[in-house]
Amino acid sequence: MKKKGIVIAGPCALESREQLRRSVQGILPWNPSYIRASIWKPRTCPSWDGIGSQGIFTLLEETLPYGVMPATEVLLPQHVVELAQALKQFDANAHMLLWLGARNQNHLLQQMIASAILEQELPFTLMVKNQPWPSQTHWEGIIRHLLASGLANEQLLLCHRGFSVKDSSIWRNEPDLSLAKEVAETTALPLVLDPSHIAGDRQRIAPLIEAAMQRGFSGFMVEVHPDPSKAKTDAHQQLSLEEFAALMESKPLESRQETLLC
Ligand code: PEP
Ligand code: MN
Repeated sequence: MKKKGIVIAGPCALESREQLRRSVQGILPWNPSYIRASIWKPRTCPSWDGIGSQGIFTLLEETLPYGVMPATEVLLPQHVVELAQALKQFDANAHMLLWLGARNQNHLLQQMIASAILEQELPFTLMVKNQPWPSQTHWEGIIRHLLASGLANEQLLLCHRGFSVKDSSIWRNEPDLSLAKEVAETTALPLVLDPSHIAGDRQRIAPLIEAAMQRGFSGFMVEVHPDPSKAKTDAHQQLSLEEFAALMESKPLESRQETLLC
């Protein structure tokens, strides 16, 4: 596996301090760019939707003192404000990655989140996932809304998490690496792959990453949990710490004879 580039790893959702601490301890030896752990979880059906604001300090305390930056999804501008207030109190020089999830498809909310990031004057990077349905122009449109709201190119990062298509073959969300690359080229933004939400299954993550790195993606975001079978969300697709280590240790593509899937 090509180890250079952006590596974002961590649990789908922040469940407890203990769960995050174990995740960070297992991931840190691989020098991740960011530790992900969603505090607020968008859910398709009503169910547990994250630890919420009470998890903010847990996220900061279990990452920043270890020299690694935290990443979490924001669904509302208020989330940006709450994170910024906590960050200012904790370590005003710290950098944090926020992301707009696939389901956040309201351009007013997108603009308000961008404005909140600007108003807080903290070094937040905003990662922009593609929307659930396949459309290059829609994804580019989200980015244009963010840029029009004043965010700079340097503050943005793209993430391809596949598209939800009727009768999808083997994927939870069908990847389109070519489309994602085109969006990266037309917007001149770096691009990472989210193989976890594409595969929906921990067994098929490594070849997706290899395919993306071969296509010139800048890195990947992968879900990792200390005890995936007990995960409150996305239990099937989260890698165990041992599986994450094996992924990061695996040989570069050139030395393997695997069929690329995309
Ligand atoms: C996530 O990354 O936690 C997530 C909810 O993904 P998506 O928005 O791509 O469904
Ligand atoms: Mn998830």
